[in-house]
Amino acid sequence: MENPQPRAPKDLNKPSHECGVFAIFGHADAAILTYYGLFALQHRGQESAGIVTSDGTNKVFGSHKGMGLVSQVFTMKDLEQLPGDRAIGHVRYSTTGSSNLKNAQPFLVDTSRGQLAIAHNGNLVNAAQLRIELEAEGSIFQTTVDSEIALHLLAKASDPSNPLASLRRMEGAFSMVIMGENELIGVRDPFGFRPLSLGRLDGAYVLSSETCAFDLIHAEFLREIEPGEVVIIDKDGIRSEWPFRRAKKSFCIFEYVYFARPDSNIDDMNVKEVRVQMGRELARLHPVEADIVVPVPDSGIYAALGFSDELGIPFDLAFVRNHYIGRTFIQPTQLIRDFNVRVKLNLIGEAVRGKRVVVIDDSIVRGTTARTRVVNLREAGAKEVHVRISCPPHKHACYYGIDFPDPEKLLANQMTPEQIRDYLGADSLGYLEVDSMVRATGLPKENFCMACFDGHYPLPYDEAFDKYVMENRRGKARLLPPAVQPALFADTKSS
Ligand code: AMP
Repeated sequence: MENPQPRAPKDLNKPSHECGVFAIFGHADAAILTYYGLFALQHRGQESAGIVTSDGTNKVFGSHKGMGLVSQVFTMKDLEQLPGDRAIGHVRYSTTGSSNLKNAQPFLVDTSRGQLAIAHNGNLVNAAQLRIELEAEGSIFQTTVDSEIALHLLAKASDPSNPLASLRRMEGAFSMVIMGENELIGVRDPFGFRPLSLGRLDGAYVLSSETCAFDLIHAEFLREIEPGEVVIIDKDGIRSEWPFRRAKKSFCIFEYVYFARPDSNIDDMNVKEVRVQMGRELARLHPVEADIVVPVPDSGIYAALGFSDELGIPFDLAFVRNHYIGRTFIQPTQLIRDFNVRVKLNLIGEAVRGKRVVVIDDSIVRGTTARTRVVNLREAGAKEVHVRISCPPHKHACYYGIDFPDPEKLLANQMTPEQIRDYLGADSLGYLEVDSMVRATGLPKENFCMACFDGHYPLPYDEAFDKYVMENRRGKARLLPPAVQPALFADTKSS
């Protein structure tokens, strides 16, 4: 079942943008506040971090980026060298060795309309197509990241009085912050796949992927940026534009399950509360007689609290987490991944010996984590081990910005629930169902993208087409006029 091969480096079109963005306009301490904002968003990306600042008069933006955690990338001196009252920042999550500083954001470019900087969370589904079109029109890309496309679109906008209209060509998931010489722009795609919120601090406007960043810097939460909304903040204040075609709201439900921080609110629902409710729903769906409920920390903690409370089974933190190693899945080989899973959590044997244990995690992707936890519990002498997962089985790829392995490596895509139970070595296994997961959010089902669970993609993405385009674009893209391009690749486009 486990694949000993390193995962192939991600190419431009593979969803690899689990990221966090932050921006502020009109505050004397813009750089340092952005630093703290990114610090609160660190869970959304640990590979690289960056900040670009401007004072709105000096034409040259300040920029500092680096590989690693926010606290590793910036020193106080770096921040002091980022002057200005406006800033955008980014933390990036990537999964492979292909990641490098060149791809770290924010991206900063000089255009005929002045400097522009961008930070993006999400994934464009028409990135390959747009890129060959833009290259054929003369654009020269500096990175392999789809986010750069937005900069080229803005720089080349055919209608200078309305450059934002050029963003209409983008399709996919994008919560973006863009800084021009005179303004700060927040953009959320019309499906609203990824979160983006607006806050206020000492008269300055703040944008953040998650509200937990507002709490840290004592900013007041004002509202979410609506799907399809573009907010433009300048010295005259804030205004909204709606350049995109309307789409059905499709917020990523996995943000509630796993990705967002529990102290963030999304759509007026607190993420921690939703996770506790998911645990309650799970308990109703798959009750079990047991002595203790044990979460896989940190991801299973709140669901385990709900599960324990619902069934009146004591909650115990039997696994102790070592907080000083990164998330297991970013390691490139299965060998290291397995090793890492073992060093990450230590089990207090005395807490589980001779007991019937329910172990709770938010999700099973490859199954490495759950399987290792069951082994730990058995070795420590647990009498029974019951696995409960606070979301439905993951069967499908995400094209909108959550990094999952290829579908053939998703455990639930390869095995029946009974086979998974057997593979994990558990006495029983229970997943949450789509309806109960949605009920836990307190929000309508129509609000959500649940493609990774149900395979219903709000926006189509043709992976084979994109791959072919990217592999074959060199040379050809420049020799042929744009109109010929789709025909060139027509043979790879599936219906
Ligand atoms: P696995 O060991 O591959 O089954 O991964 C499951 C564990 O990874 C769970 O503890 C989840 O909390 C966590 N997880 C789920 N999805 C992701 C993701 N996209 N990125 C990183 N970790 C994840």
